[in-house]
Amino acid sequence: MISFFKSLYFEILSYFVSEKIEYEITGECKKCGKCCNYMYSFDTYTPEEFKIMQFLFPAYRRFYIKGRDNEGNLIFACKYVTKDGLCSVYDKRLAMCKKYPMKKISYPAQLHEGCGYTVEKKLFTDYLKK
Ligand code: SF4
Ligand code: SF4
Repeated sequence: MISFFKSLYFEILSYFVSEKIEYEITGECKKCGKCCNYMYSFDTYTPEEFKIMQFLFPAYRRFYIKGRDNEGNLIFACKYVTKDGLCSVYDKRLAMCKKYPMKKISYPAQLHEGCGYTVEKKLFTDYLKK
């Protein structure tokens, strides 16, 4: 009986644990600059929210609104990317720039078309095979 309640407890608990998907990143950067010229934020929808984000995170003042995609999402660009697609402040780039593309994320994302990296979702069965 105790084991039943234990498994019930863990079953309920599983509904509150956020899904963590692990990805395997392969390839290398082709230095095309697309990720510095076309950025998205899944929780910033209006120019006002963008300003709040910049107020809260002053380092984000390097970004400006470039436009919107077909679905109405804001697209940002960085003022430090050169016309050749390179970072002009490479040694002082943000931590998020250094980590891109991140190995672990908890929201839907995709790489730019033509990006030199490939992202493969690691399935639970992949771990079982090891
Ligand atoms: S989009 Fe991909 S290939 Fe292009 S600069 Fe960014 S990481 Fe490099
Ligand atoms: S700081 Fe450099 S790497 Fe980061 S978004 Fe701007 S140009 Fe790209």
